[in-house]
Amino acid sequence: MSTESTLRIVWIYPDLLSTYGDRGNLLILARRAALRGIGVETYEVRSDQPMPTTADIYLIGGGEDGPQALAAQRLIADGGLHRAVGQGAAVLAICAGYQLFGESFFAKGTRCAGLGLLDITSDRGETRAVGEVRGDIDPRLGLPPLTGFENHGGRTHLGPGVAPLARVTAGIGNDGRTEGAWAGKILGTYAHGPALARNPAIADLLLRWAIGADSLVPLDDTWADRLRSERLAAAGT
Ligand code: GLN
Repeated sequence: MSTESTLRIVWIYPDLLSTYGDRGNLLILARRAALRGIGVETYEVRSDQPMPTTADIYLIGGGEDGPQALAAQRLIADGGLHRAVGQGAAVLAICAGYQLFGESFFAKGTRCAGLGLLDITSDRGETRAVGEVRGDIDPRLGLPPLTGFENHGGRTHLGPGVAPLARVTAGIGNDGRTEGAWAGKILGTYAHGPALARNPAIADLLLRWAIGADSLVPLDDTWADRLRSERLAAAGT
């Protein structure tokens, strides 16, 4: 697909799971890599195309129940994403994409099989979770607090094979207490919008995981930092 030194980023099924400006996450990752002098190739893989197995980072976005169920079926049938994860690829999975990484999820009133790549299951909630979501990220990841926007009907239960991405300080996330999950180099979150514009430190974590670096040259994140401070200072925090 490319030379060894080039970072390969795949955006999974933009034709099905791109309801919330998910392309922004791809652009931000590519830009933050390029600013560090890291060569990048990006691939937008539609649901009628085979999933490449050798990329370094995979992004999967949010979507409505119908496209979410279809995406899960196609990814299971394709099998390429399972191989990529088995080979150590880094993943950012958002909302519908996060749910379908689990064992099962609810869509259109039916329980659907997920990819089984995260030890989570999702059920239907009694209310829809819509609005700001904030949380203190697992200290082991060394990141500033998460802020984002959530819009989902499902609620997610975490098994022992994953850790919560964050402890909720505002909003609902998985269940009102925890938000998102991570295991190995897979990171799932209900924050979308796109999440990496508001949380550039998560973009850098994915880049570090992908290239195996402990740190990256810092960038000027004044605007993202200001937005985070503003959101954290807002009522309800
Ligand atoms: N369809 C899923 C739910 O409502 C995911 C929604 C989304 O991606 N925003 O829970």
